[in-house]
Amino acid sequence: MKKIVLASNNAGKLREFSRLFADLDIEIIPQGQLGVSEAEEPHATFVENALAKARHAARITGLPALADDSGICVHALGGAPGVYSARYAGEPKSDARNNEKLIADLAGQADRRAFYYAALVLVRHADDPQPVIADGFCDGLIVDAPQGDGGFGYDPHFFLPQFGKTVAEITPEEKSLISHRGKALRELIGKLKEHGL
Ligand code: IMP
Repeated sequence: MKKIVLASNNAGKLREFSRLFADLDIEIIPQGQLGVSEAEEPHATFVENALAKARHAARITGLPALADDSGICVHALGGAPGVYSARYAGEPKSDARNNEKLIADLAGQADRRAFYYAALVLVRHADDPQPVIADGFCDGLIVDAPQGDGGFGYDPHFFLPQFGKTVAEITPEEKSLISHRGKALRELIGKLKEHGL
């Protein structure tokens, strides 16, 4: 079985990625298990941050590395919080404070359109000149009142018109089918199969 280091220690992401990669006979190892610390994410785009994280993990472990970077972009806020989604309300990271700030920033705003975005980057080694890159979007509307207790982050305020529910109210299987991360992951797996990896 091939091994890939995941440039994240998020248990939810590890579960999601491991499930899909098991079919390819690839074992996903979280970077923490290999003593890799979190990389800086200094860039203005998701794909650059994902690449920085993947390179960092590959450089330290000598293994191929997979990283993702994701966030929520709100039309009426000019695309914010964007790459700053995790720390929108400052340090320490807090989903509750991020959601409070988002709803306050949108007060009186009629345009509620937003999208989730995820970029995934896989490098075969730290100096890989041709990283495998995939991405995905998920469109929705921001609602003031939180609904549901599933998911994480902005999900209780992210309403999906096609379900008549927020992302926090749908099942993990439904989320995987329609989510930015699910779409990006399926695109990445397709590309890896195409490349014979
Ligand atoms: P990162 O990709 O781990 O840096 O996370 C980015 C941030 O974007 C998260 O902390 C959440 O605030 C937000 N985010 C990304 N994907 C989702 C999602 O599927 N649901 C809710 N929030 C998300």
